[in-house]
Amino acid sequence: MAPKIYRSPIPNIPVHDRSIFTHLFYSSSVAGDVGGFPASYPAFVDAQTDTSLTRGHTKKLALALGYGLRNHPNTAAKRGDTVMVYSQNSLAWPIALFGSVAAGLKCTLANNAYNARELAFQYTDSRAHLLFTSEEGIPVVLQMFKELGVSVNDARQRVLVLPTGLQWAGGPAVPLSADSKGLLTLDELLHLGTLKEEEAFNEELANDTAYLCYSSGTTGKPKGVETTHRNVTSVLDQAISAFPKLVPGTDTMLGVLPFYHIYGAIMLLHLPFLCGAPLVIMSRFDPVQFCASIEKYKITVALIVPPVLVVLNLHPAVNQYDVSSIEVLVSGAAPLGAALTQQVKERLEARKKDKKPVYILQGYGLTETSPTTHLLEKPDAVRKIGSIGILLPNLEARLVVDGDGEGLIDAEEGQPGELWIRGPSIMKGYLNNPTATKDSITHDNWFKTGDIATRDSEGFYAIVDRRKELIKYKGFQVPPAELESVLLTHPEIADAAVIGVDSAKQATELPRAYVVPANAASIKSEADKQAFARKVQEWIKSKVAKHKQLRGGVVVIGAIPKSPAGKILRRELRDKAKVELANR
Ligand code: AMP
Repeated sequence: MAPKIYRSPIPNIPVHDRSIFTHLFYSSSVAGDVGGFPASYPAFVDAQTDTSLTRGHTKKLALALGYGLRNHPNTAAKRGDTVMVYSQNSLAWPIALFGSVAAGLKCTLANNAYNARELAFQYTDSRAHLLFTSEEGIPVVLQMFKELGVSVNDARQRVLVLPTGLQWAGGPAVPLSADSKGLLTLDELLHLGTLKEEEAFNEELANDTAYLCYSSGTTGKPKGVETTHRNVTSVLDQAISAFPKLVPGTDTMLGVLPFYHIYGAIMLLHLPFLCGAPLVIMSRFDPVQFCASIEKYKITVALIVPPVLVVLNLHPAVNQYDVSSIEVLVSGAAPLGAALTQQVKERLEARKKDKKPVYILQGYGLTETSPTTHLLEKPDAVRKIGSIGILLPNLEARLVVDGDGEGLIDAEEGQPGELWIRGPSIMKGYLNNPTATKDSITHDNWFKTGDIATRDSEGFYAIVDRRKELIKYKGFQVPPAELESVLLTHPEIADAAVIGVDSAKQATELPRAYVVPANAASIKSEADKQAFARKVQEWIKSKVAKHKQLRGGVVVIGAIPKSPAGKILRRELRDKAKVELANR
């Protein structure tokens, strides 16, 4: 049977053979213009210190950093080398990313909550050459090098300290802590020279990898996702064609999502810049700061994850600050319920004297799709509440029910199937992992998302289930395989399996472990089981980043259900968890 291939209702748009730097910073013939807008326009604002960077500043600093990275004797980076960024959101992020891509380097973005072991895995796997970190990250970074057996002297050559305040924007120099004494600072790289325009606007880079975010994909441990310059330039143009229009001088976006996740990296650091609108940067989500920043900067658009809506639905700060400038909230990275959407919409609209509507939109995508593939547009927000919207231009989709190769069966209209996507924003592959790449991208370039979706007769999609084993806690990836391997290092655990359970209250999944004690004979009563479970739940806290903690509980079990081939039967455990949680 011929495959059922769906296309976007939005006509296709040109795909450019361009570097990210060209796409963002190209200058038209108008003097003083940076990327199509005046150099004097604000580009990034730090909500904490109120320091800002104009577009011109951003370009100048990125070119200076690119030059410094290539020419400083400590860094001496060459095209294709990898730098890691391990830091909370800050004004230094756009400079670190744009400076690195201008110099033709790859950036691997690490979760700033990672501990030394988690960081070491990504640093080693990505073959990073240098590491950008903030003052806060230095102790973990030095510990990571120690665990990797890198000498103190060598380690100190590989670290670049990002400023927290911004000395380059005219503020005072950042006082360095004892740990960071002697480490190279970003500032030192900014005074060596500047990349020439013909070096930075290098179109040959289009097919080079620019970003390496980590994702577990459909199975296993985190893998480096090779996002190319072309992936980024394509996804930006595709997303802009359905994204609410950002008007320079009118619209201001709030950047609270973490920049190390592809959603924050692309949709916050790149998209508003391309549209000429400023981004106000918050280092983390705090409800009071969130509402205070909306009031102070007259924020019109914010990108969020569903748990932020849970807070906005109930927190008193929404009534204590003037949040009436908000016009659009775009939620992504995890499923968003219709009821929650409606409640927050009504709450925010009640704060508006002009009675204008608030649009709460939903987007969908994956690290592997750079990320956005679907967006619900403003006119459909109410009518199609709960949907992830339409497919973006240049992309093709299939909903595959079953089968392999020639025998594939596509879902009938309205029926669920695994969402497959093809187009210019699909990753190049998983870094140094041809097997995982081959398992997720077919010979004819279809990427298998591992999500089960439906498509209605008008072309609106909804995510109805997940086929892959991934768990998402508040939008953060929690790969079960990684937690299972940590649990198996516990001397009293013989076997383990981790699944996700839904928490409607928090609008998220929670990781829940089933563990088989090594010495089953010692665990006789229900009280013994509970004590053992509590011990494991406490122990894991010291081993993994906060978002991977076993908030969904630990359950002692006699044996993990497995297929004859030894694969964990997660569906069985998920059904079991539903019964256990319903009976509580
Ligand atoms: P990540 O690579 O961390 O962005 O995770 C991608 C995964 O997040 C997808 O495969 C989905 O399982 C989930 N996801 C992202 N957006 C949505 C959404 N709007 N609704 C449901 N699940 C989503």
